[in-house]
Amino acid sequence: MRIVFLGPPGAGKGTQAVEIVEKLGIPHVATGDMLRASIKNETPLGMEAKKYMDQGLLVPDEVTIRITGERISQPDCANGFLLDGFPRTLAQAEALDKLLADMGIQLDAVINLQVPEAVLIPRLTGRRVCRNCGASFHMVFNPPASDGVCDRCEGELYQRSDDNEETAVNRLSVYNTQTAPLIAYYQEQGVLKNIDGEQEIHQVLVSIGKALGKNWA
Ligand code: ADP
Ligand code: ADP
Ligand code: ZN
Repeated sequence: MRIVFLGPPGAGKGTQAVEIVEKLGIPHVATGDMLRASIKNETPLGMEAKKYMDQGLLVPDEVTIRITGERISQPDCANGFLLDGFPRTLAQAEALDKLLADMGIQLDAVINLQVPEAVLIPRLTGRRVCRNCGASFHMVFNPPASDGVCDRCEGELYQRSDDNEETAVNRLSVYNTQTAPLIAYYQEQGVLKNIDGEQEIHQVLVSIGKALGKNWA
């Protein structure tokens, strides 16, 4: 299955993605995670991307199109993948369409997680992420069993540097202007599935399953 996750920052894409890729046995391709790994490794690409990410701005299309395109061309993506955080601009969506057409494949579904804007800021500022496996938790809405420790792998939880209020507000405005137009783009392609992302975490998973023709209750 080839799936794209759409939705504003804090909608719950990462939270749902880790569960879904396990159930479907496909790779989780998170462009933000790949960029953060490049920053951690202090590669030239990472140093360039950091300038944008620190301000809550999008990294240039040419960079994200290249790294995501390379990733989904790997053999482990041949039978499917879940794209989380890509595409985020019309240019990226068009580049993805072209790449998929060249590979002779199509998207099966674009899952659009809908969450009201007022809920997103507290979700982002209270988010904690596992350094090891990337799982997302929340100080209040989804606390780990043990403070600062990942439930899945016992890795250390940290707060992303862009999850402060000021940068989060910038990211939401970037989403509204640059990414929200993709909803209409995929609606026209007939692959869009709208999901109520304000439900309880497991219920969101059940709803996504339903949209994909699976029973995950
Ligand atoms: P995204 O990847 O879309 O930016 P995340 O999956 O990281 O979003 O979720 C953002 C924050 O909101 C995290 O702290 C996560 O624990 C929390 N969260 C995710 N889904 C829900 C939900 N359905 N209800 C309440 N909080 C949620
Ligand atoms: P979130 O969980 O808030 O949705 P991500 O981890 O997906 O955040 O992205 C973090 C940052 O990485 C973005 O604010 C942006 O700077 C950069 N980024 C991630 N994906 C893309 C993309 N497809 N195009 C441009 N920039 C991206
Ligand atoms: Zn972990």
